[in-house]
Amino acid sequence: MNLVKQNKLRNAGINTKLAHLGSNPEEFHGFINPPVVHASTVLFPDYETMKSRDQKYTYGTRGTPTTDALASAIDHLEGSAGTILVPSGLAAVTIPMLAFAKAGDHCLIVDSIYGPSRQFADRMLTRLGVEIEYFDPLIGESYANLLRKNTSMVLLEAPGSNTFEMLDVGAMAEASHQVGAVVMLDNTWATPLFFKPLDFGVDISIHALTKYPGGHSDLVLGSVSANERCWKQLENTQLDLGICAQGDDCFAVLRGMRTMAVRLTHHEKSALQIAQWLCDHKHVHRVLHPALKQNPGYEIWKRDFSGSSGLFSFVLKDANETQVGSFLNTLKLFGLGYSWGGFESLALAVNTSDRTIAKAPEGGRLIRLQIGLEDTKDLIDDLESAFGAI
Ligand SMILES: *Cc1c(COP(=O)(O)O)cnc(C)c1O
Repeated sequence: MNLVKQNKLRNAGINTKLAHLGSNPEEFHGFINPPVVHASTVLFPDYETMKSRDQKYTYGTRGTPTTDALASAIDHLEGSAGTILVPSGLAAVTIPMLAFAKAGDHCLIVDSIYGPSRQFADRMLTRLGVEIEYFDPLIGESYANLLRKNTSMVLLEAPGSNTFEMLDVGAMAEASHQVGAVVMLDNTWATPLFFKPLDFGVDISIHALTKYPGGHSDLVLGSVSANERCWKQLENTQLDLGICAQGDDCFAVLRGMRTMAVRLTHHEKSALQIAQWLCDHKHVHRVLHPALKQNPGYEIWKRDFSGSSGLFSFVLKDANETQVGSFLNTLKLFGLGYSWGGFESLALAVNTSDRTIAKAPEGGRLIRLQIGLEDTKDLIDDLESAFGAI
């Protein structure tokens, strides 16, 4: 992108940025979108260039114009020194952890972490000799007492998966740096539009691009963005492991990102409207959404985040297993399925049996909703029929 345009974008609004980031038409004969490069081999013009590897692209696993377009757009949004693209959101958690783990280390992980991230830590990091310790997302200032001389990694997620607890990310990052730990945060829920972890001292920001950036439930992809301190080691780890992203997926995510802010505005508004409606419902014990005033994390959310997305949970009052089944089976517009961030609404019954501390609240069963792009009135009708069935 030429410098004048780059400078213009620096101070532009988010929709303007998303319309232009990672776009370089002058390099591609004026075509607006980057070409999807399918590649293993890249040819060198002569022996000398091949020997020195002194050309921008050298091999399919080491980046293409398509992966560069997406990575540079994410760097701009996250304010990072570099971004790697990996084949799934889960890989975006496991690869940075492998990059910084070594035997004898101590690693702190928030107990409300995405379930498969926990499984990776318990099964693989433990086998590699890393001691894993989970902590209460509501720990507050006593967090600092958990840090040890050998605490080398901290894995955060805010709000927490399924239970949506907020964390004081800035304070935790600062305390963690006192012992030299690398601080990573899974930023999938907020996207870089609503929270910028590196501005709060986090070293590594993680995304399941599968969710809002992709936005259409048709791909899996992940990104890991690092500050200067961590970039080289992260990039080397990706190259050492031979992990890379495919051009088709990167292209689809870049296309999804053009409309991400427009979609998120709708997801946010509808989710808040439905969450408010649920708060007053006789079958609902509690709504877990960080942007609701009565939520314990509200103050932190308001201070640090600039918006909320379309995923939250609620406690179905006094429900037994049969009633949970009736509720979910009666939903017609809400599909039953994993993942989220697409255009269609989804529901599932949350299982927190893997947690040691951040269990689901008492008083009923926890149901998670992803509010899609449908009209709110129709979604409320659908939920009302499902409540009627229990
Ligand atoms: C979905 C999700 C992931 C994993 O993403 P996949 O692309 O499905 O592997 C990681 N972290 C969070 C918070 C998620 O919601």
